[in-house]
Amino acid sequence: MRVHPLETGVAIVRERQLQGVEPFRRLRTVTTRTPWVEIPVRAWLIEHPDGLILIDTGQTARVNEPGYLPRENPYYLRNFKARITPEEEVGPRIRALGFDPADVRLTILTHLHLDHDGGVAHVLDSEIVVNATEYAAARGVAGRLRGYLPHRWPEGFAPRAVTLPPTPYGAFSHSLELAPGVVAVSTPGHSPGHMSVVLEGEPRLLFAGDAAYTVDALYETRLDGLTVDAAAARTTMSRIRAFAAERETVVLPTHDPDAPARLARDRDQHGRFAARVAEQPQGDAVEPDQVPAAEAARRPGDAA
Ligand SMILES: [Zn+2]
Repeated sequence: MRVHPLETGVAIVRERQLQGVEPFRRLRTVTTRTPWVEIPVRAWLIEHPDGLILIDTGQTARVNEPGYLPRENPYYLRNFKARITPEEEVGPRIRALGFDPADVRLTILTHLHLDHDGGVAHVLDSEIVVNATEYAAARGVAGRLRGYLPHRWPEGFAPRAVTLPPTPYGAFSHSLELAPGVVAVSTPGHSPGHMSVVLEGEPRLLFAGDAAYTVDALYETRLDGLTVDAAAARTTMSRIRAFAAERETVVLPTHDPDAPARLARDRDQHGRFAARVAEQPQGDAVEPDQVPAAEAARRPGDAA
């Protein structure tokens, strides 16, 4: 089963957003002017035997139109910018791979922040699945106050809002299989109804959305500055780590610059990777794509 990263431009955010600081973490993220940093904004396309499956839809080039972002929100006013052209939206990205966006069968949104639902207009023919808690949080005036952009959802946006039943899936307490081998798992914290998506296989993949911005952040329990529920986010991170420790799992956060390379490398070298690492003599210089055995054991699926 082939999986394609789809880069939909970059978001330009404050350094503080990548690593929140307590107390008043969210307030400080919105008001502190730390340096700008660019982070990738990525969706994923799965060539599933049942049809194309899209995980998130990236951002839209419309974000740069005057008035698109709510100016009354200090976060958008001072601490968020984006760089994306129309050709970098998810629809053209899918077309560039030789597929028709109209052939996407299933779209799973990890959550409804603007850099995840921004390209949804390209795949309105697909079944769009979002967590019911997330959908409720994002709708209406209350949703706008929380920073969502429900008034930008395209006409015809009618997602299937799912409640994940208390069916354990590995370390996760709630899960729902949406297609054979494609399982949504509950990973709240960054947002109220955040979901991640498991794709079973060798190795299995975990599309982590914004449960952590990077794999490093995941293993250092580094909360981003916008996370709404810190305790839930920590629990989510520990569940993901436990899940990845059960057996080889490639963890793929939306904004991790290394995620596509990690996916390509781990899939190519699966089965040989552990042996190659074990041959690495202790204390020797480590090539950029190698990692000591102890580190590999601590971080399944994250070699670098
Ligand atoms: Zn987010």
